[in-house]
Parts: sequence; structure tokens; C-alpha cells
Amino acid sequence: MTLASRIVALIEAQGPMSVAQFMSIALLDPRDGYYATRDPFGAAGDFITAPEVSQMFGEMIGLWLVQVWTDQGCPKNPRLVELGPGRGTLMTDILRAAKVVPEFLAGLEVVLVEASPVLRTLQEKKIGGSGVSVRWQAQFGDQLDERPLFLVANEFFDALPLRQYVRTERGWCERMVTAQNGELAFALAPMPTPPPMIPVGLEAVPEGGVYETSPAALALAEDIARIVARRGGAALMVDYGYQARSGFGETLQAVGGHSFADVLAEPGGDDLSAHVDFAALAAAGRQGGAAVLGPVTQRAFLAALGLAERAERLASANPAAGTSLVAAVKRLVGPDQMGTLFKALAFLPPAFDSAPGFAAWTAS
Ligand code: SAH
Repeated sequence: MTLASRIVALIEAQGPMSVAQFMSIALLDPRDGYYATRDPFGAAGDFITAPEVSQMFGEMIGLWLVQVWTDQGCPKNPRLVELGPGRGTLMTDILRAAKVVPEFLAGLEVVLVEASPVLRTLQEKKIGGSGVSVRWQAQFGDQLDERPLFLVANEFFDALPLRQYVRTERGWCERMVTAQNGELAFALAPMPTPPPMIPVGLEAVPEGGVYETSPAALALAEDIARIVARRGGAALMVDYGYQARSGFGETLQAVGGHSFADVLAEPGGDDLSAHVDFAALAAAGRQGGAAVLGPVTQRAFLAALGLAERAERLASANPAAGTSLVAAVKRLVGPDQMGTLFKALAFLPPAFDSAPGFAAWTAS
């Protein structure tokens, strides 16, 4: 039985489900979910992420982390958490770069939050022998609040389940996933179902307009911010998403084999993701008591951290790699590539509210 037919059977038994529920089954169903069954990264997979483009990305972030840790007076026993570590490449590059400050690594505990058993196995192979204490958990949960928290998440929040609401003449109605003649289909909730949070501007959205919000992402961001504010540390979230608008417009997309697909066509077979709503994430961070820096574009962030200089140094050490380094830099910061669509957002304790890469920002 395919995952699509299992979802149809579930809907026939229990009624329509939210887009969020559909998304979490499609991505994480233990037997057939997209992330649960494969390694989707790289040229042969469905998409390439920044750490897979070049080791320089993780190195910059590793140096960012040790700088922020030093700025806070080198707190003892820091915990480094990565959400959704994929192939483990980012964490490997972070730990290698952080060797310049052995004191940071000395008391460090690394926690990898990974729901997919397949990817966890890949991560174990890559990071298990790093000499640092590493453990895994399937969810962020509520056990990570007693040590300073240094957290990184690259292309994690875009995979979290989101709800969609459509403006109709009856008011805002949630878009649901239903079954028609044994096939998955979208349908609007018959009664108005106002979104849980009403951002400014919602009233101006015309009929047919879509509002997206991820309660899971916002609750998680608030939890992270609360720990960072209380225990010290920092959270760095890098993702693709919009900055000015907050949640308006439909961005949920399916990607399979490097091309776009119908969201309902092949649950479990295609990746599903949506633009991250940085304005909403920042508001959740402030709600949790953290100072919020950004969002800044990935281009501005990596340039300020010295990406160009790092590429030059690597190229002079290994001239044969020069062309591929130039290509990697272009991919990471080119305005028509990942440079402006991708953004970085940081949460810091209110007492330490500045960080490299966010110089232009006053915390709010
Ligand atoms: N950070 C990596 C991978 C990004 S893809 C990179 O940049 O290459 C998203 C990652 O998050 C995958 O590892 C996926 O299995 C994991 N993931 C997605 N949803 C999750 C959830 N709800 N809980 C835990 N892990 C999740």
C-alpha cells in the first residue's frame, strides 16, 4: 500500500486533515516518509544545501559559534545542538573549524535532533568518531534547558508542518486535505476557521489570498529563545524565506529530482517545504525573551564573516581547487543563487546582543 493510499484511508476514516498533518506524514512517516526513507541531498538527490555546496559554509558557522561563546565569557559545559543535520556535513565542518579554540570543544556536548533513522545512521558514521560527546534525539523536546545552548539549524524550519488559510467571502477558512474517489484533493473547511495568530495586514488580503503559518516552527523558536535568554548561548537559523511579508501568499512546494511537482501527487516521494516566515520567527524569539538579530541575507552574513578571504586562502593552498571554490562562493552568495533568498536570523541573550555577521543590526 502506498503512502498516498494509506493517507486516503486515514481521511476516509477520520475526515479531512490539515495541510500540516499531511506534511508531517509525507515527510516523516516511519515507513514511507520522504526523510525517513532516503538521503535526498546532493547532485543525485532532490536538492543541494549550503553545507553540501562547500565546507566553507560550516567553517564560517563554526567560527561564528566560538566567537559568540568567547564573547559571553566562555561559559562552562556548552551544549551544541543541530536541528535536522542531514548528512552531518555542517556539524563536521563546524567541529573542525572550532578546533582553533580547544577550550570550546573540551566541555562540549553535541546533540543532533534528527527524526529520520536513515539520516541518523549517516550522521553516526560521519560524526561518531569525532572525539566529541555526541548523542541523538528525534525531537528538540524539553530536556535541553539546563546548559548554555548553542544551536544551529540550516534548512530545517522550511520542512516544519504549516497550516494554510484561504480568504473567502465567508471569512478565513483553513485549507484541508481530503479524499475524492480515492484520490487526495484540497478542500476548504466549510466553516470559517480563523488562523491562530492574526498578523497585521491580514485584513487587506483579497479574497482567494492565502495565509501560511507554522505553529510548530513558532513554538519551537520560542522554546529555543527562552533557553538562550535564560542559560546563555545563541541560536543561528539559516533558511530560505521572505522578509517583508509575513505569511501572505502560498509558498508550500513539492520538489522531486530537482524539479517542482504537485504537492499532493506523491506523498513520501517528493520533498515538501515552504518559505520560512522570518518576521514571525523573530517575533517568537522576542516572545521567548531573546534579543533577535536579523534576518540578514546569507550573502551579507557570509561576506561579513570573511567568506571571500577564506576562499582565497584555500585556493592559494590548493590552486587546482580554485575554479570549484569560485563556483561554490557564487552558489552560496550570488544574488540569483542562494545569496538573497536565504537569510540568517540569530537569537542571543539580552545581555550579549551582538554577533559577527549582524553588525548592521541593533537587537530588537
Ligand atoms: N541541515 C541539513 C539538512 C536539511 S534537510 C543541510 O543543510 O544539509 C532537513 C533535515 O531535517 C533532515 O535531516 C530531516 O530528516 C530533518 N527533519 C525534518 N523534519 C524534522 C522534524 N520534525 N524533526 C526532526 N528532524 C526533522
